[in-house]
Amino acid sequence: MSTPELIRDPAEWQRRCATARDGGTRIALVPTMGYLHDGHLSLMREARHRADSGGRAGLSLATIFVNPTQFGPAEDLARYPRDLDGDLAKCASAGVDLVLAPEDPKSMYLPGFQTWVEVGEVSKGLCGDRRPGHFRGVATVVAKLLGLSRPHVALFGDKDWQQLQVIRRMVLDLDMGVEVVGMPIIREPDGLARSSRNAYLSAEERPRAVAISRALREAQRRASGGERDPRDLAAGISRALEGAGLRVDYVELVHPETLRPVERAEPGTRALVAAFLGRTRLIDNLALP
Ligand code: AMP
Repeated sequence: MSTPELIRDPAEWQRRCATARDGGTRIALVPTMGYLHDGHLSLMREARHRADSGGRAGLSLATIFVNPTQFGPAEDLARYPRDLDGDLAKCASAGVDLVLAPEDPKSMYLPGFQTWVEVGEVSKGLCGDRRPGHFRGVATVVAKLLGLSRPHVALFGDKDWQQLQVIRRMVLDLDMGVEVVGMPIIREPDGLARSSRNAYLSAEERPRAVAISRALREAQRRASGGERDPRDLAAGISRALEGAGLRVDYVELVHPETLRPVERAEPGTRALVAAFLGRTRLIDNLALP
């Protein structure tokens, strides 16, 4: 497959996308922060498929931008892993046509920038409480990327479950007129959810990270067996994580869309986990049966 065209300038990107859309081309968009893995690539392959579903070849777009406004001051912005050449080769293998990778964050946040998107209740709790300002940064950059690209469909991973709900809410509330598609979590063979941040794990930490997906699956098994008390299920997950030497940030059982804590685990209730392994913060989630 041919290497996608790389565009550095958001204004140039906006012109290209507008011309395509005005010409009747169907556009699918996958926003990422790069250092791509199979999770990202599954979104891109689906984007290719959905772009072409209008009966003629569409435009499959990916963006690679480590968005500074979604990182807290003590977070990993400076050391976030990057590999643009490797990413472009992976985008090629997944049929991406065009990649926007702004060279300088200042080209996305021009002088005088002062407009922010604040999504309400679904941005609170969970990662919203532990990472103040994170979802404001995410919602704002996704709103900008949707405005720059004007896609018919945009694809996001279930891995970042709260982020997906924040984006769905924003698109609805602000009449953005784009179809938001959530895609299943892609995992390593041992069950660890694929993440660019897995690169931070040392050889000693990496095998222990499997505790997260194992604990979630064990909760799923207990729920299938009739355990419906969210406190018991969450406590079981926490114990398993602590037993493997992870530090629990949160374990919660919530309604899949409102993200409110549930009183009883029902089918579709989502178990969400964030935990530290050394300095690395990992997240994962699963639907209960
Ligand atoms: P990121 O580069 O971490 O901002 O992720 C870009 C997109 O890829 C987001 O919509 C993520 O939810 C999605 N994503 C990340 N990891 C996975 C995974 N393991 N499986 C499916 N989607 C993922």
